[in-house]
Amino acid sequence: MCLGVGSRTGPEGPGDPRGRDVAFRRANGNHPFGALLVDADGEVVLEGENTVLTAHDCTGHAETNLMRMASKSFDPEFLSRCTLYTSTEPCAMCAGAIYWGNVRRVVFALSQEEIRRITGGNPENMQLTISSREIFARGDHKVHVSGPHLLEQARAVHEGFWD
Ligand SMILES: [Zn+2]
Repeated sequence: MCLGVGSRTGPEGPGDPRGRDVAFRRANGNHPFGALLVDADGEVVLEGENTVLTAHDCTGHAETNLMRMASKSFDPEFLSRCTLYTSTEPCAMCAGAIYWGNVRRVVFALSQEEIRRITGGNPENMQLTISSREIFARGDHKVHVSGPHLLEQARAVHEGFWD
């Protein structure tokens, strides 16, 4: 289950919330969110984690961190063939980063509604209640979104964290 960079996953797979990886990052002192970038061959080419607390960076969400690395590492044409897998549906900021970075496919585990239910209004998990699908629908190019997926595993990572 714990696949590192260079591991393979099916490009059409249902989305893997990377429970073990995310749990490890939670132990690092950050919020338990993670994201992966997978190329057209199903190869994991980048991993992102949430760094809001440890980097004192309000923009340090896993998907935005991943897209920051992605646009430095790959050209937009390559990124247009990649899929971003994320443990939770991208927020407005992250959906923007995914859009501007030209990744055209997103697979998420927990929906925004579900993470809101889990965090129970915890101020460390503020939300803008607009779905990633709503944001991508306003773009000049299409971004395909699939989710929610693997809810049981994705919920388990958050158990007791937000209490
Ligand atoms: Zn975000």
